[in-house]
Amino acid sequence: MSVLVFIEAADGVVKKSSLEAVSYGFKLAGASVTAIAMGSISSDELAKVGAAGAAKVLHIADSRLDNGVIQAYASALTQAVDKTGADTLVLATSSLGNAVAARVAVSMQAALVSNVVDLPETGSGFKVKRSIYTGKAFAMTEVTTAKKILAIKKNAVEIKEDGAAASVEALVVNLTDADFAAKITSVDKAEGDVLLPEADIVVSGGRGLKGPENWGMIEDLAKSLGAATGCSKPVSDMDWRPHHEHVGQTGVKVSPSLYIAVGISGAIQHLAGVNSSKYIVVVNKDPEAPFFKAADYGIAGDAFEVLPKLTEAIKAAK
Ligand SMILES: Cc1cc2nc3c(=O)[nH]c(=O)nc-3n(C[C@H](O)[C@H](O)[C@H](O)COP(=O)(O)OP(=O)(O)OC[C@H]3O[C@@H](n4cnc5c(N)ncnc54)[C@H](O)[C@@H]3O)c2cc1C
Repeated sequence: MSVLVFIEAADGVVKKSSLEAVSYGFKLAGASVTAIAMGSISSDELAKVGAAGAAKVLHIADSRLDNGVIQAYASALTQAVDKTGADTLVLATSSLGNAVAARVAVSMQAALVSNVVDLPETGSGFKVKRSIYTGKAFAMTEVTTAKKILAIKKNAVEIKEDGAAASVEALVVNLTDADFAAKITSVDKAEGDVLLPEADIVVSGGRGLKGPENWGMIEDLAKSLGAATGCSKPVSDMDWRPHHEHVGQTGVKVSPSLYIAVGISGAIQHLAGVNSSKYIVVVNKDPEAPFFKAADYGIAGDAFEVLPKLTEAIKAAK
C-alpha cells in the first residue's frame, strides 16, 4: 500500500487533525508514509509532520496556496498523487478536506470514505468503520476500488509522538489561472483569542448561567485553560452571546480534547455538536440532567459556586 497524507495548515500552522491523519497513515502503511503540504509553512511545522509518522514530506511552497482555494488544492493534490503513484490518500475530515477529497476522488477514480474512526479490516476485502448520524452510530463500508481516499474523523487517532525527522522535498506542480478562478478576497476572523471550531479546549455555557452578565465566570475559566468559549442555542438566540459561539446540530460542531459544559441540559441537538470531543466534563446543579450520561466527568453543583473554585484551582495548579 502506498499512502499519501494531505496536510492542512492555517496561518502556516499544521492542523492537529492533519497530524492525526499522518499517524493514521503510519499505522496503515508503516514507515513508508509520504505527506504533502501546501503554501507557506515553516520547516519547524513540517518537522511536526515527520514526528507524527511521515518518512517524507513533499512541500509545494506556492504562496497562492495559503488561502485554501479548493480547486487549486484539488488540482495540486491530484498531480501529487500521480507523481508519487500513491494508491491511498489519507486526510482529515473537514470542510476544506471534504471538498478537496471529492474532486480528487473523481480524478483518481477512487472510492472516498469520510469520518473514518478506525483502521480498515483487510481479512476479506477492505472494510472501513465510519461514524454516521452526527456520531450516534457507526457503519462498516466496503471499498472495492483499487484506489482509496480515507478522511479521518477528528480525535479518532492518537498522534504518534516518538517519530523521527522526515526528509522534506520541494514539489513543483502546474497550477493555472483556472485553478484560482474563485478568489478569497478577504477573511474576517471571529473575535476571541482561540477560535471555536479549531479549539483544543472549549468552555461552553447554557441557560443555567441566568444572563449575559454572568459570562465572566465562563471567560475566566476559559482563559485559565487557554480555551475557546461556546454556548447553547437559546443563549445565542437571546443575544447573551454572539451566534458564532452557538454549538450543536444547528451551530458549530467542535472536536476538542476537552469540552466543559456549564449549565447546559444536554439536549440531543446540543450533543450532536460535541460528541466527537475526547473528554466531556459537565457542571450542572441537577444531578438528573441528561448531559451527565454523555460526560466522562461530572460535577453536580451550582455553577456559581463551582466555577470560581475550579478556575482558582487551575490557576494554582499552573
Ligand atoms: C431543530 C432544533 C435544533 C436545535 N439546535 C440546537 C443546537 O444546535 N444547539 C443547542 O444548544 N440547542 C439546540 N436546540 C435547542 C435544544 O433542544 C435545547 O432547547 C437547548 O440546547 C437547551 O439549552 P440549555 O441547555 O442552555 O438550556 P436548558 O434546557 O434550559 O438547560 C439549562 C440547564 O442549566 C442547569 N442549571 C440551572 N441553573 C444552574 C446553576 N446555577 N448551575 C448549574 N447548572 C444550572 C439546569 O439544571 C439545566 O440542565 C435545537 C432545537 C431544535 C428544535
